[in-house]
Parts: sequence; structure tokens; C-alpha cells
Amino acid sequence: MNLKSTIIVIEDEKSICNFIETTLTAHNYKVITASNGQEGLSFITSYFPDLILLDLGLPDMDGMDIIKQVRNWSMIPIIVISARTQEQEKVLALDSGSDDYITKPFGTSELLARIRTALRHHQGGVLVQNEPVYSYDDLIINFSKRLVTLNGQEIHLTQIEYKLVSLLAQNSGRVLTYDYIINHIWGPYADNNNNQILRVNMAHIRRKLEKNPAEPNYIFTEIGVGYRMRESQQQIV
Ligand code: CA
Repeated sequence: MNLKSTIIVIEDEKSICNFIETTLTAHNYKVITASNGQEGLSFITSYFPDLILLDLGLPDMDGMDIIKQVRNWSMIPIIVISARTQEQEKVLALDSGSDDYITKPFGTSELLARIRTALRHHQGGVLVQNEPVYSYDDLIINFSKRLVTLNGQEIHLTQIEYKLVSLLAQNSGRVLTYDYIINHIWGPYADNNNNQILRVNMAHIRRKLEKNPAEPNYIFTEIGVGYRMRESQQQIV
């Protein structure tokens, strides 16, 4: 028998809250709903959920403060529920420690996929073990051999290109912000030029990996936010 994962939903829009609750309950999650921030915070500390779905625009407080408070003591995955136009808000939420975001309006399968990814990354822990491999379609990345193959053919990447691809692949299914990527590749003292360098490198990577770089199959641009690599078909352990 499987132990149910508990999810706390903090969302003041009743219709969205109901939709999420119905969907998740039908998929065997235990759901607890809160319609404001105070209630949400008190539920989080009393139930220790496996995941939090968080609307940022709450009647009594800014959802961003909930992310910061929770991150003081816990790495519980947090998925932000965000309005379509608020790119800056998504970036801020990710950089404050949320794991992912989902944009309203969203469908059942997208919601479930985001939750599965966040739960798996959380339970999977750190990625250092034997022969960890990313694979999707024809693309395989062997992290211990630093080998990238497409259709069985080795793809030659520069150091930076490889670092970028492996960072995205090890976090596959999740969006990584531009700042997060730049910090990881070029360090905390990177300047604004790195944004441009990042784009140039991503363009080179796409030319090497994608059949049609304008309609990518592996690495997607989240406009104004960052990049997301297609979730690995094989779990990276
Ligand atoms: Ca709201």
C-alpha cells in the first residue's frame, strides 16, 4: 500500500482551489486547503506536507513571504500558482526558493506533471551516484562520462555548453531562471554580459541538439524567466 502524499493548497480563488482539490484527491493525494496566508502557514507547520501549492496574491499577505518563511526551516517543495503576465514575479519566486511555478489557467495533466517532478526531485535528493543518465527521445547524457549522444552519435560540446546542458538535464522538468543558471556556470560575481553569453551558448547548443532550433524538442525557453529541459524518461539517481 502506498502512503498518500499530503499537499497543502494556499489559494483564495475558490474555483481554482476546488479544481485543484478535486483533481488531486482523484489522483490519490491528500489535500488540505487554505484560503489565506495565515491559515496556510499554520497548516504547513501542523501537517508537514510533502508539497505546497501557493498562490502569490493572497488577501492577507504576499505569498513570497510564505516562501521565505518556509525556506527558513524546510525544503518542502513549493510550486507557485501564477498569473500569466507576471514574469518578474515568477523569477522572484524561483529565486526566493520555490521549486517551480504553474501558470493560470492550467490543466489537469500539467498540474499533475509539475507535482510529480517536484516530489521526485525532493525525494531523489542529491545527484551523485553511479552512471547517472539523462535520456529523452534520441538524446542521452551520461554525466559520469561527460558524454552526450544524439541518435548514438557523439555530440561535441564546449566546456560551457556541456555545463549548461548538464545543469538543465540534472534539473530536467523544472524551470531554471537566468540568474540561477548564470550563478551556477559563471559564479556569483558574473556581470550582466553573461546574460548575452548565456543566450549565445544556448543558441549553439540548440543548433547541435535540436532538429529544428525554432521548435525545440529538448530545451524550452520560458520567456522572461529562464529555460526548462524536457523531463528525463529515465530517473536520474
Ligand atoms: Ca489570489
